[in-house]
Amino acid sequence: MTSETATVASIRIQDVVWRADLTVNGQPYPMHYKFPDRYRGRRLGARALFTADGLTERQYTEMVAAHELGHAVLWLAAGLHVTGIAISGTGRGAGHTRARRTGIADEALWLLLGAVAGEVAQGRWLREVGLWTEDRAVLVEATAVSDRQAVLRTAVPAPRFGTVAGAGGLGQDYVHLQSRADQELERLWLQLTRALPHLIQQQVLTSRELADHLGLPLNAPSDADR
Ligand SMILES: [Zn+2]
Repeated sequence: MTSETATVASIRIQDVVWRADLTVNGQPYPMHYKFPDRYRGRRLGARALFTADGLTERQYTEMVAAHELGHAVLWLAAGLHVTGIAISGTGRGAGHTRARRTGIADEALWLLLGAVAGEVAQGRWLREVGLWTEDRAVLVEATAVSDRQAVLRTAVPAPRFGTVAGAGGLGQDYVHLQSRADQELERLWLQLTRALPHLIQQQVLTSRELADHLGLPLNAPSDADR
């Protein structure tokens, strides 16, 4: 992906504030919401943080499933192949989803948008079920470190965090990727919610099962990316 340039249509985003009150690996970690002081310095996994904040184990598992399906549904709908999907039942709750190239147009961009779609779907799920709070939204951001690092590593040019002042305030901010991913998820949300109980029940779905539950084609991977 590094040899390609991925661009997203510029969207004017007003009043976007990226806060930098959290540091990850010595670098400021930008977030939309204030990181709660009570979580500072706590070396807890995502599951412990979310359940300490009032989510039940079941709700946490469903939220993780929505995150992983967010990656999967966007990649599949774009025409990429998804190797399968897994959520763990009792561990730290980290899920797993991977895309394979198929040679579609704008492939680099769709790979990025699918990577961003995990945290976006997670936030959307919290809103849809009436569990969204600012403190949970910031946990969604704080636990999206590996997805964001993958995006920042592969996007050329890397998206920025921070609005550009003035009338010409357009450009590829990370929030543009989030906004575009959210638009895509809007039209795919019903498919995602229909697949969600199957993922909860089975914990692991093969690429075929995933495509069937989402009602999307399997999309064979290109020979170069099997
Ligand atoms: Zn993810």
